[in-house]
Amino acid sequence: MIVYCATTNPGKLREFNLIAAHYGAGKLEVLPVPGLKEIEPPEETAATFSANAALKAEYYSQFVDGMVFADDSGLAVDALNGAPGIYSARYAGEAATDPANNAKLLDALKNEPNRTARFICAIAVASRRQTLFGFEDFVEGEIIDAPRGPNGFGYDPLFFYPPFGTTFGEASAEQKLLVSHRGQAMKKMIERLLSL
Ligand code: IMP
Repeated sequence: MIVYCATTNPGKLREFNLIAAHYGAGKLEVLPVPGLKEIEPPEETAATFSANAALKAEYYSQFVDGMVFADDSGLAVDALNGAPGIYSARYAGEAATDPANNAKLLDALKNEPNRTARFICAIAVASRRQTLFGFEDFVEGEIIDAPRGPNGFGYDPLFFYPPFGTTFGEASAEQKLLVSHRGQAMKKMIERLLSL
């Protein structure tokens, strides 16, 4: 079975392929939406992860003959009332880099003892501009006070995961996929698609 994915984020794309290979057992192939780079992205105007995922999946499904999935994900920090949340990718401004977002987060948490946070991932599967399924999951951790580790992307070097005793930036991609918000949400999606 082929499912198309609608992301231009190389970090996410790497994880989608790894997770599909792990849970799809050779039965599910993730391919990028053909010509994705030439397609103007939709504005992510919805107020929740799941609504933004549905918006993106429905939008990109018009360019594909088949099923498309999109993920909307981010980091919710308790001491910041859930920020950066749905604005995680552009926390430090439009087209912000990962290091700029991380620096802004550390600044916002300066002298803040409560470091609890979670990554959240919503996935929507759509066809012919209609959402067919939605899945959501999360993983709990703590924001440390300086980046650690070269792996992953986004806020991974700041996200300490107690069961590993490391940040996601220090964990391997294979370790991360087994526990991450994206790994768990995609596992649900893959089980659903393979049951069709
Ligand atoms: P989206 O493309 O609008 O879903 O934005 C997702 C943003 O959330 C990314 O650009 C990262 O900043 C952050 N994010 C989501 N998932 C992860 C993750 O697994 N690790 C690190 N950062 C993440």
